[in-house]
Amino acid sequence: MILPIVKYGNSVLHRVAEPVTAFDEALERLSRDMVETMYAAPGVGLAAPQVGVLTRLMVIDATGGEKAGSLMVLANPEIVESEGDQYEEEGCLSIPEFTARVHRPRKLVVSGQRIDGSQTVVGGEELLARILSHEIDHLNGVLFIDHLSLIKRDIIKRKIRKKVRAGEW
Ligand SMILES: [Zn+2]
Repeated sequence: MILPIVKYGNSVLHRVAEPVTAFDEALERLSRDMVETMYAAPGVGLAAPQVGVLTRLMVIDATGGEKAGSLMVLANPEIVESEGDQYEEEGCLSIPEFTARVHRPRKLVVSGQRIDGSQTVVGGEELLARILSHEIDHLNGVLFIDHLSLIKRDIIKRKIRKKVRAGEW
């Protein structure tokens, strides 16, 4: 089932998500729906708060579904290693139509749990590292625009407010 994606302005995006404790059927269903929602958007990553659920679950496919075996479903992710820096353009399904360059680690190693609760470690460089960092941010109530300078952030916020007033958000 494709879920509605929460947009900037909703307070759920600014809150810290709770750890996953029950690896049950409900979690499996949520992850399936999130994967479907991500691919339909289309996007390369989605965190549970973006569908209004404050739980530490995220789904990622850096290929956008182009390459089999690229899908990652990760609960309770923790950064165990971070290296280097990249400064690339990125966007967010919750802040549609806006992009900005954001500093992210160039390489990231993340531990977490699969949907069955078993432990796993995933590593990524470049785009995948950027997505991992972006989605983990979501679980901590942080958005990509929070990494921008006050001036750049205010420009985007002002444009969003204008869209809200125009009924386009
Ligand atoms: Zn996002």
